[in-house]
Amino acid sequence: MAFDAVLPWHIDAWMQVIAQQRHERLAHAYLISGLPGSGRYQFARALAARMLCTEPLADNAVKGVPDAVACGRCRQCLLFDTGNHPDVLDITPEEGKSSIKIDQIRSISRLVNQTSNQTGAIKVIIIRPAEALGVGAANSLLKNLEEPPGRTLFLLISEPGAQMLPTIRSRCQPLPLAPASPEQGMAWLSEHSSSASAELDAALSLAPGAPLQALALLEAGIPAWRSIVQEQLEDMAAGRLTPLEVAKYCHAQPPDYAIQLMQELSLHKAREALRAQQPMAARAFLEVGRELTLIHRQLESGANPNPLMALEHIFSLWQNTTGDKDVTRKPGDVQFIASRQ
Ligand SMILES: [Zn+2]
Repeated sequence: MAFDAVLPWHIDAWMQVIAQQRHERLAHAYLISGLPGSGRYQFARALAARMLCTEPLADNAVKGVPDAVACGRCRQCLLFDTGNHPDVLDITPEEGKSSIKIDQIRSISRLVNQTSNQTGAIKVIIIRPAEALGVGAANSLLKNLEEPPGRTLFLLISEPGAQMLPTIRSRCQPLPLAPASPEQGMAWLSEHSSSASAELDAALSLAPGAPLQALALLEAGIPAWRSIVQEQLEDMAAGRLTPLEVAKYCHAQPPDYAIQLMQELSLHKAREALRAQQPMAARAFLEVGRELTLIHRQLESGANPNPLMALEHIFSLWQNTTGDKDVTRKPGDVQFIASRQ
């Protein structure tokens, strides 16, 4: 159960829900909003475990633990820990899919209509992320939210400000989760990673407020990978590498990482150019940024099915833009390249 502890930056939200429960004012549905990678699923799991646990820890039983967390030892907690608790439904898009199917939502009715494994116990339904609900699935869920069946707790996880049916939003009590402060993020990350503090810093700066995401980036070697890509860009500028070679190196990671890095670099170069009073160069780099956004969208929607070619295109564009020292040239050159795809 250790991983489902309440994170320090979630303590206020936790206290709020536990107080509601104590006063028997628990909502039947919460919209838990927080940054991806900030531990919002961990929060939902800790809350689910707390609701199912038959012997939750007393207030302040453990120093630093906010309030009445699940015991982690009773039969319900052990069942929950196996991932197969019969009174819990954890709904998320199936492997390789981006949206939650209507059939998955229909399984809620089966759960709420069956007898729970302990008398009068609550049933918990986690939906993550809520923005992955398609129209059909959202409407099907709405029926359950309108007529809350028995003792049921819905925990919908979403990003702050995410798009979803207003009728779904209005039937849930909002439960915003704070992001981790830089100090909290650093403290948590250094407890969970043995990387050097400069690497921890780099990872946190890539995932501000979201230390769990920063840890995932560290484990995937992203901060180190980014430094290598930046060295490769210098090699490309010096003619030692081709855009295709850099693209092949980047292709080992999801294209999002290269796109994010190039977006940061374009913005940085545009700012530098503005400071040096080179508006044409600044405009060219902003144009690269716009092209990156377009490519990102094309890759996400599947309109461009070839990430390697997209990356090569990005690096060719970068080579043309950075290689052009003559800031008085026509901006049309860049526009031509940008509109080629
Ligand atoms: Zn327990």
